[in-house]
Parts: sequence; C-alpha cells; structure tokens
Amino acid sequence: MKTFRKTILFLLLFMTISCFGFTSVPKANYQVVPLPQSISNTTGGDFTLNNKTVIVYTKGNTAQKQTAEFLAEYIKLGTGLDVKITDKKTAANAILLKSDNKNEKPESYTLTVNNKLITIAGADEAGIFYGVQTLRKSIPDNVNGTSVIFPAVEIKDYPRFGYRGMMLDVGRHMFPIEFIKKYIDILALHNINRFHWHLTEDQGWRIEIKKYPELTKVGAYREQTVIGRNTSEYDGKPYGGYYTQEEVKDIVAYAQKRFITIIPEIDLPGHMLAALTTYPNLGCTGGPYKVSQLWGVFDDVLCAGNEETYTFLEGVFSELIELFPSEYIHVGGDECPKTRWKECPKCQAKIKELGLTDDPKHSKENKLQSYVISRIEKFLNSKGRQIIGWDEILEGGLAPNATVMSWRGIEGGIAAAKEHHDVIMVPTSHLYFDYYQSKDVDNEPLGIGGYVPVEKVYSFEPIPDGLTEEEQKHIIGTQANLWTEYIPTSNHVEYMVLPRMAALSEVQWTMPEKKNYDLFLHRLDGLMKLYKKSGYNYATHIADISAKAEADINKKAIVITLSTYDNAPIYYTLDGSTPSANSAKYTSPIEIKATTKIRAVAIRENDKSKEYTNQFDFNKATLKKVELVSAPHKNYTANGAVTLVNGTRGGNSYANGEWLGFVGKDFEAIVDLETATDISQVNIGTFMGIGAWIFGVTEYTISVSNDGIDYKQVFSKQYPVREENDPRDITVDVNAEFPTVKARYIKIVAKPTNSMPDWHAGKGKGAFIFIDEIIIK
Ligand SMILES: [Zn+2]
Repeated sequence: MKTFRKTILFLLLFMTISCFGFTSVPKANYQVVPLPQSISNTTGGDFTLNNKTVIVYTKGNTAQKQTAEFLAEYIKLGTGLDVKITDKKTAANAILLKSDNKNEKPESYTLTVNNKLITIAGADEAGIFYGVQTLRKSIPDNVNGTSVIFPAVEIKDYPRFGYRGMMLDVGRHMFPIEFIKKYIDILALHNINRFHWHLTEDQGWRIEIKKYPELTKVGAYREQTVIGRNTSEYDGKPYGGYYTQEEVKDIVAYAQKRFITIIPEIDLPGHMLAALTTYPNLGCTGGPYKVSQLWGVFDDVLCAGNEETYTFLEGVFSELIELFPSEYIHVGGDECPKTRWKECPKCQAKIKELGLTDDPKHSKENKLQSYVISRIEKFLNSKGRQIIGWDEILEGGLAPNATVMSWRGIEGGIAAAKEHHDVIMVPTSHLYFDYYQSKDVDNEPLGIGGYVPVEKVYSFEPIPDGLTEEEQKHIIGTQANLWTEYIPTSNHVEYMVLPRMAALSEVQWTMPEKKNYDLFLHRLDGLMKLYKKSGYNYATHIADISAKAEADINKKAIVITLSTYDNAPIYYTLDGSTPSANSAKYTSPIEIKATTKIRAVAIRENDKSKEYTNQFDFNKATLKKVELVSAPHKNYTANGAVTLVNGTRGGNSYANGEWLGFVGKDFEAIVDLETATDISQVNIGTFMGIGAWIFGVTEYTISVSNDGIDYKQVFSKQYPVREENDPRDITVDVNAEFPTVKARYIKIVAKPTNSMPDWHAGKGKGAFIFIDEIIIK
C-alpha cells in the first residue's frame, strides 16, 4: 500500500513537472528544404528569439529593408511574435542583415547564430533573402506567441544553379492576379529565382498589348471549353480574360522584391490561334480562325512568308520588353506543324527567297522556322535581350545566341550544349507537374496522364553524363512546368506543384552529393507544416503507404513490401475487410499465392493514411514463365515480361509501370504453363489512348504447342482500326475463346495499327499498343 501511494505521488509530481515545470522552449531545426550546403554546430551559445528581438538592416538600403519586413512577417506567421525592424545597430537580441560577403558566390550567404546575435551576411541582397528563407523555415511548428531557441550554428550556403525556374501556363486557364502573387510567394519559399510566365496560347491571349488592343478583345476569349480529354462534349460557357499592363507591372515589381525575375513567353510561330483569330491576315490561309476550345497541336500557325507577321511580333515584343526587365525573353518555338507552310505560296516564296533547301538533317520548312526564330532573336538582341526557346528550335538549326529549354527529354539539351548553347533542363519525364503524382488516378483530379511522383522529381540530375567540363557549364539550370489544360482553379495549381516543388528546389539548389531522398522526406515534413500554416493546398501522397509488389516466378508468389517514410505502423487485411489498428500489423513482406485483395493503412497519431488496396487475380498464366519475342519501347518496359503475369491489372494510367508499350512491331509472347494444361480462353488487357498515339489491336492470334517448337493456331481474329469518336482512355480486354485444348506453350500475337488514320495528328505513323496482363483460363 505504501509503495503504491509513493508511486502515485511520484507520478503526479512527474506529470506536474513535465506539464508546467520544465515545458521545453521550441527549438529551431536547420534541416530545411532546400538543404543548405554546410551546417556546422558552433559553441557561441543559443540565441533566444522573443518579442524584444529586433531585425537590423543597413541604413539607406531599401532592398534590405524590404527583406527585413519579410522576415518580420515570416516570424509573425511562424511564431505569433511581433518583432520590430530598425536600421540602428544593436549588440544583442538582434537579427542582423548585411551584405558584406562580397567575394563569395552570387546569391550565397552565411548565417551565424550565437547567444547575442543571428547574423545573415549575403554576398548580395539576394543572398540575404535566401538566408532569411532558411531562418524562417527552421522555425518549428509548435510555437504560439512564445520564444524560440536557435542553437549556435554556422550555415554556409549557395545555390548549385543560377537559373532555378518554375513555369505557369495561363493560356489554357488563367488565374487571378492575387493568385499569381501567391504563386510567386510559393516560388520564393523554395529559393526559386525565375518565374516563366507562359502568356499566350491557342486557347487565349492573356496580356494587354496597346498597339494591338483587339488581341485582348477577341483573342483573350473562347466560346466554350471541351470537357475532359478532348471528348466531343463542350461546357457551353465562354471563358477568358487577360492581364492589363498595369497589373503586369505590379506583378513584376512584386516578384523583384522577392528576387524573382519574370521571364515572359510569347509562343511563336505555333500555338497562335488566339492571335490568328484576332488578325486572320497573319495566317497562311487567311482564316477564319477560332480561339481554340480544345487542347492539342494545331496546323494553323503564323505565316512565315508574310512581312506583317514580323511587324506584329516586333510590335508585341517592343511593349513586352518595356514591361519585363528580364534579360531572357521566351519565344516558344514548340509544336509548330509545317502543314500550312508546305502549301502556302507566301511561305514557299520566302523559302525560295532565302535559298532554303531540304537536306538530310533538316527540311526547308524547318529551316524556315529557324529563320523566324533567328529574326526575332536578332530583333531582341538589338534591344539587349536574349531568347529562350523550346528544344524544337534545334530543328532547322539553332539561332546564334539562343538558350534551349529541353523538354522532350534531355537529348535536345545535350545537343545544344555540344553546340555551346546554354541549356535549361525541363524534361517531361521528371519535371512536368501537370502529370499525375499518384498511380491511383481514379482518386486524383483529371490530369493529362503520365506519372511523376515526388521521388521521381527528386531523382533528377540536370547535368547528363558524357558532357565535357566546358559543355557542362552550358547547363545553366533547371525548371518544372505547369501546363493547365486540366487545371482550372488556383487551388488545383497548388495541389499540383506542392510538394513536388520542394523536390525540385533541392535539384536546383543542393549539391548532388548532399541529396538523400529519405532524409529529404523528413525535412519535407517540416516544410509541409509551413504549407499548412500558410494556407497552401498541397498533396499528401508522401504520407501514403508505399507498396512494392514483386512477382516472384520461382517462389510462385507475389511478394508485397509495405513501408512509410516515417515508419508509421501499418495494419492490413487479406480478406477484403477494412483495415484498422486491430488488424494484423505489418512486420515483414507478405507472400500472396492465390487471388487476394490486400487492404492496408498506416496509423499515425490522430491520423490514418489513405488506404492502400490491391487486387491480385490469379489465372493459369499467373507467375508462369513468359518470353517476349519483341522488346517493348524503352520508355514503357515496366518490370519486363513478368508484368504480364503478375496478377495485377494496369488500370487507367498507361504510364504507371503496370503496362508494356510496343510500337512499330507486333506484340508476341510465349507463356510456358510448365505442364500440359486444359485451356479454352486466352485474353490480353489493352489500353486505348488515342490522344497518346495508343491504338487497339488489329489482329489477334493464339497458337498452342506441347514442345515449344510446333505450334497449332487455335484462334485468329481481325479488328477494325479505332475511329475518331471511339471512347478514349479506356481499358479493353481482347478475348480469344476456343474449344478446350491441352497445351503447355501458348503463343500470343497481337498486331498494332501500323499507319494511323488521316484524322489523327500522327497520321501515317505507327501507333502504340499497350498490354497489362495475359489471362489464360
Ligand atoms: Zn504562310
């Protein structure tokens, strides 16, 4: 009894102490995103930030005063504390901003903390700004009007790349000025220093040009918008708008204060339907044209043989350079079909006049596009500006001083660097934030396709192998792009860029040897708390269970490995019931040997993760040996042949690693059932993505054998080529049923569409076929 009472007393005492006595003061954590280049503990003592702390900037320095004001706002948001700014030097309890690190790299800073001062010394004003960003991101989440301890430290930091960009397309959908400012704030939080503003599109012209006022009266509006991915249905609602020059000036100034340069893009000579609708004389056919109501690449482009085109462009760029002080002006150059130019007498006359001819590398029409780009470059160079163009500007020969934005992969960038041109790497494979960030696309807002999760972004290395040191220097940076065909709201924009922008920021800022994805996820945890505090709408996929299902043909099992980035406990069921904390706890990989549905959740304090569900369906082919006679396309190899017998269906996203894609050849596979087996059905799952050049099977043949040498055909059928109005982005099983035969080897041949029909953008070219599973019954 005595002991019991003592224990109670001790417990009570202990609880009192921990609740009221020694409440720990929140401590700053310098492991922020992007990770600084070096963080060293020092012995100068801890600094306590409280409501008496002041921020000191250099007298008369307006940029620094502005940064000091930002820091005060950040501290208010992060801690609730009101700190004052001043230009009077103080010896204690102050955050000192100064730009006397003159000999260091541009944008670099040193942040030192001791018991008297936090000092942020920048090589320049931008460096101070990034030091301030690091400081504010180090504030822990659990501060509410109380003081914060900053442990003694010396942080030395500088960016890996000078060009750290993020693009936003406002042509397809536009966003209010207030949101553009918020977007710039988000960029600043991630140490991004270039905002590439894509201002014109087939679907809308978004910037006021005083010389051509009709552009924003006509070209800024479309009558309606297609529903979904170019279905035949439209919403019937007029859509449009534009930014006035006054608004643009305001935005440019807003960005400048945050050390962000805005690079405007006028996309030419393609993607110009909005301008052509306004001024049909600028097109090859003379129109009439319509501001586009659907998405894609269109044949009607600016006429390159018409001098009025150049007058128009020079008029537009003359006003643009007055609004944007950026050294770089983006002139587009992507996705410009040459269909009209080939037929247009003016364009052909221009080709003749310039003496352009086809050669094995470039067609004369491609050379005409180079002429257009070079002519605009010459004009902009004469005004002291440089051009950036999408990698298509390589076709037909590069304009002499152009910087190339390599988007269709990194190959364009490599080619340009080898020609001693500057390059910005923006490949679709890693840096297109309009792509899905989850494989579970049914539970995502409609997207353009693809699959670029946070980890993929993080893994990107902008400097490719095989470049000389001199060529490497031409890779000046990297950026991610957000195209907005399927992104109609600001909220949705935030969801697509966050937290992938955090991964991007370490690609742009942090040296590759310092990068570590697992540690990054822990840093990201802190940053996401700041997103929440700032009211940003961000995706939370990283908190989901990450699952790996490996089909092991030797074990005859599908081995499932589950994990979470923070080791949160995972509970699962295999009987279809809802998993909870009472379900089996995951401790080691799970082996599945028959048709099973697995459901799992990670359970954190007050928080359940999204459920992971996977259905494994076993049939006679599952986990049997498969031989592929022809290899899949290098971008769509998934896990190789075993993907076809792993019991898992591919679902609605063809790029999620569950589909094999073939082009230019038949799909031909041989399944070895190991013993002679009765079969009467052989099906394959296919994907129909007409917009992505994925067509159906045109001929399907099944043959069987018992020795793997002599085959007997048991089924063959032909199918018509897909038509324009056929359903898109659906899965279709191709079935073969036949009288029961006993066989060990099953040969499956599926023929693709070898020449896409005239109505398709890829007419005459071979279509892909995509296959996810072989089902034998
Ligand atoms: Zn023309």
